[in-house]
Amino acid sequence: MTDVAELVRRNTDFAAEQFATGPGLTINPTGNMMIVGCVDPRVDPSHILGLHRGEAAVIRNVGGRITPATLRTMKMLGKVGQAHQDGKADGPWNLVILHHTECGMLDLAPFEDLLAEYFEVAPHALTAKHVSDPHGSVRVDTDIIRQEVHAPDFLVSGLVYDVATGTVEIVVPPTAVPVA
Ligand SMILES: [Zn+2]
Repeated sequence: MTDVAELVRRNTDFAAEQFATGPGLTINPTGNMMIVGCVDPRVDPSHILGLHRGEAAVIRNVGGRITPATLRTMKMLGKVGQAHQDGKADGPWNLVILHHTECGMLDLAPFEDLLAEYFEVAPHALTAKHVSDPHGSVRVDTDIIRQEVHAPDFLVSGLVYDVATGTVEIVVPPTAVPVA
């Protein structure tokens, strides 16, 4: 078991190593990158995608899904980004949706009411959410982004991570969203 004292001890090492020359980062992700992924401890994007500190904003929820709540969170983060435009890195913005095999969403399939509430849809519409199929779900969610987000230089992609092999597969390559 990991306890809080252990975390604080690790933080002491982190601060000593990483902040020896000052904080060095701004609120804008240095990689112009946002990742939406699952809370599953096996699929931390920082580990499996080798993110550097400050490189990407990461939203994690059950399944890494684009729900109305995820869209609201993204909208709020967009406002934060606009408030710090001067610190934005050059180049397009990349939104990466990261789903994975053996997701706990599979265990939730029998709980239709919970899922319907989560996705804010009627229970009969859940089939279209592909909760038992990461390849299908990542396509569904990239489509939602293309319907809901309209911005220049904004790319969305969909990846599936295999928890058995540690490898990611590009299911939806980086794709521009409609500008209007
Ligand atoms: Zn999961």
